[in-house]
Amino acid sequence: MIPPIASNFVAGETPEAALAHVESLNERGVAGILNLLGEHYEERSAAAADADAYIDLVEAIADRNLDACVSVKSSQIGLDIGDDAFRENLARIVEAANGSPAAGSDDTGTFVWIDMEDHETTDVTLDAFERHATATDGNVGVCVQANLKRTREDLERLADLPGKVRLVKGAYDEPAEISYKKKARVDESYRDCLAYMFEAFDDGVAVGSHDPAMIEYAKELHAEHGTPYEVQMLMGVRETEQFDLAADPDVDADVYQYIPYGSKWFSYFYRRIRERKSNALFALRAVVGR
Ligand code: FAD
Repeated sequence: MIPPIASNFVAGETPEAALAHVESLNERGVAGILNLLGEHYEERSAAAADADAYIDLVEAIADRNLDACVSVKSSQIGLDIGDDAFRENLARIVEAANGSPAAGSDDTGTFVWIDMEDHETTDVTLDAFERHATATDGNVGVCVQANLKRTREDLERLADLPGKVRLVKGAYDEPAEISYKKKARVDESYRDCLAYMFEAFDDGVAVGSHDPAMIEYAKELHAEHGTPYEVQMLMGVRETEQFDLAADPDVDADVYQYIPYGSKWFSYFYRRIRERKSNALFALRAVVGR
């Protein structure tokens, strides 16, 4: 069982717990992005089992008519084993997701995001996105990282494709030759990339950030260009702001919460605590009820 201190950041160990969490978010106008925790599998059976779990999940999302999508990691569904394992498992998930009608509409199915891992996986992940975004007419999204120097150029390639792109600052400690190391430089790159996306993307922009300055900038860019956009934040981080954004009539954006779940919760929780002291205090306050 997940201890109360971790349950601010992780919805539970089972899909049932994660789906119940989505239900409660949907009631407050926030959509869900479900992520089964797990990465860097070296056995085919483990990667295939998580792909199977995602297939069950997209079916459950459709059955319950939830406003939710899924987000998968390449190394969770076979990339460390080989390109073929990754391709096969991703194709199975995307196919199942496209066969399931999405929440309350007659559109094509449940949306599938592909998270971005370290720089050695960027090319293969973008190639996979291109293949599936084209084949599904845009029912797939990919994450790109503003801390990588290559990202601004990658966006030019992505602008011509259907599908959505999530811009984040980047969670991996990358070599200095290929990445920006200073926070101010990463923020500058985030702004440049965001400005380009609002100018050049038709299918919408996903702002994957808790940073109030970036969210405000996205609002300004939307007013200027009219490009549809969504804001995505993690479960347990600035949740009050998530609900406020969703309820704000002046904010013309969908709000999504990224919801991790599953038995491999410990390392994810530990990362959240390590990256920010306030997360630890927040988790602790929730436990002692103050
Ligand atoms: P930061 O630059 O960390 O902080 C900026 C400001 O935001 C802070 O000054 C503060 O005002 C506010 N803030 C940030 N965190 C908190 C907090 N805990 N509590 C209160 N205020 C806070 N990274 C990847 O490399 N690959 C991925 O696929 C990926 N997917 C993601 C999906 C989502 C939905 C999100 C939200 C992030 C994802 N990330 C991913 C992580 C991302 O790269 C960053 O590491 C992470 O979001 C921190 O950067 P930030 O923009 O939120 O703000």
